[in-house]
Amino acid sequence: MRGFEIVRPDTMEQAIELLADGDPGVRPFSGGTALMQMMKTGVFVPDRLVCLKGLAKDHSGISVDDAGGLRIGAMATLSTLERDPQVAAHAPVIARTMKALANVRVRNVAAVGGALSHGDPHMDLPPVLAALDAVAELRGPSGSREVPVAELYTGYYETVLKPGELVAGVIIPPAAGAVTVYRKTTSRTADDWPMVGVAASLELAGGQVVRVRVIVSAATSKLQRMTAAEAALTGQAAGQEAFEAAARLAAEECDVIEDAHGSARYKTALVGIEVRRALQQASGGEAAA
Ligand SMILES: Cc1cc2nc3c(=O)[nH]c(=O)nc-3n(C[C@H](O)[C@H](O)[C@H](O)COP(=O)(O)OP(=O)(O)OC[C@H]3O[C@@H](n4cnc5c(N)ncnc54)[C@H](O)[C@@H]3O)c2cc1C
Repeated sequence: MRGFEIVRPDTMEQAIELLADGDPGVRPFSGGTALMQMMKTGVFVPDRLVCLKGLAKDHSGISVDDAGGLRIGAMATLSTLERDPQVAAHAPVIARTMKALANVRVRNVAAVGGALSHGDPHMDLPPVLAALDAVAELRGPSGSREVPVAELYTGYYETVLKPGELVAGVIIPPAAGAVTVYRKTTSRTADDWPMVGVAASLELAGGQVVRVRVIVSAATSKLQRMTAAEAALTGQAAGQEAFEAAARLAAEECDVIEDAHGSARYKTALVGIEVRRALQQASGGEAAA
């Protein structure tokens, strides 16, 4: 491996300055679990790495804001999400998802900012946050902006992040009466990378669907919101018939790709099955086989 330099800024402003010229040989890292894999395989050859660990003192907090939303700093580790009582109370689906994400060694060092920025469509956290209507806080040379997590990805390993822009945190709005679930199907062990990931969030009033989010990842080149399925379900009576119809639409609208985890045909069938099961689970019913 070619030699490279590591710089260690203390503040987000310093980190942004170090990344501002958009040099492709200069990259930030949080836990380094994904970036090191890219370096080991030669996909990324750095000239300089900007270590974000010095930012943890200011950007790893988890708190409830005045509007009742949950704010999570980008440097919070995935293990912290797994154990934090506020996360468990506000969005229990996150804590449950963490338990089957990689392994404890990865979760102890990987950070929310890295998990959101990597852009690998197989990541488990982005679809969950998208179903919760979470918004990513981005900070860069030209200021701050907020981008819904559902709109963060433009393609395979591609995000809307501009050169020098960092994920500073994520805000999850109050859940109201919604129940959110995530179903991960793997072709190997339960904690392996997903072949299909489905996150569904359902809010019911008097048995009717008033808000629904259906997000598919892993089977696709970037996480995808199933807007036709959501539109068909909104206003309908929650139940087997409506969930099956929405699942059929999701399987139709989902842009499934073939990869080492399975063929496009197989994964398309799984998308339909898993969307139906996720909706049933979120509605409080059992996920029928
Ligand atoms: C053995 C193994 C198994 C795994 N299995 C799973 C799995 O089952 N499910 C799953 O979801 N994931 C899995 N992962 C991936 C893991 O979730 C990611 O490696 C991790 O979330 C990345 O976080 P990090 O902080 O280590 O990112 P880093 O490696 O530090 O960074 C990743 C990317 O994000 C950029 N970046 C980092 N922080 C920021 C920031 N704040 N702002 C902007 N850009 C930033 C970096 O430049 C880099 O491009 C696995 C990883 C390993 C090594």
